[in-house]
Amino acid sequence: MSIAENVSRIRQEINRAAIAAGRDPGEIRLCAATKMNSADAVRQAIAAGVDCCGENRVQELTEKLSQDAYRGAPVHFIGHLQTNKVRQVVGKVDLIQSVDSLRLLRAINAEAAKQGIVQSVLLEVNIGQEESKSGFLAEEIPDLPEKCGEFSNICIKGLMAIPPISHNSGDNVKFFQKMSQLYVDIRRKKYDNVMVDCLSMGMSDDFTDAVRWGSTMVRVGTAIFGARNYAP
Ligand SMILES: *Cc1c(COP(=O)(O)O)cnc(C)c1O
Repeated sequence: MSIAENVSRIRQEINRAAIAAGRDPGEIRLCAATKMNSADAVRQAIAAGVDCCGENRVQELTEKLSQDAYRGAPVHFIGHLQTNKVRQVVGKVDLIQSVDSLRLLRAINAEAAKQGIVQSVLLEVNIGQEESKSGFLAEEIPDLPEKCGEFSNICIKGLMAIPPISHNSGDNVKFFQKMSQLYVDIRRKKYDNVMVDCLSMGMSDDFTDAVRWGSTMVRVGTAIFGARNYAP
């Protein structure tokens, strides 16, 4: 299957899941998770109509930006971001999806202020409460908009989650439901720098469930590009 065929099949599956859930398919964005894929593969995905690209590693982002790989689509950062690397990401991407601490928020805000811009971000939630994953705990989310009031160079656009690796289809439904509830709650908050319209959840194995439970952005890698080759 070509990248174009994969993208069109995934889009159909998203649409079908949305309609089955009584949702408007137009409100769900498809983000191509491009890690370990070449600039050429990224260009094919964009030509096939993905809504945006998500990159995990700063070095890959920088390299593909220099190759102009993302032309025609917004690029997001979706990987773990160290505070000492914010300068290479802030202002270079439309959205940083993976903001996992107040410390990182503060660093992004400072860099955005220096550049004279407002950086859009999502708050990453460690919804499975996994030791191995970063992210805010669900209980911390309701108070965050107020805590971020001082960060005037940041705009909070919503929430992102990577649930635990599932072994059976449907395993993640409980996490998607919990994320949906957090999303509905945070959307009600009225702060100058909070404009929530994005709930980013769902990957290759579970994006139809995620759509069923309210995702507005799925991040799909393997199902678009094929298995990643981790060999050196
Ligand atoms: C790799 C990755 C994805 C996509 O994973 P697939 O299972 O290949 O679809 C989504 N989100 C994040 C944060 C990722 O790192």
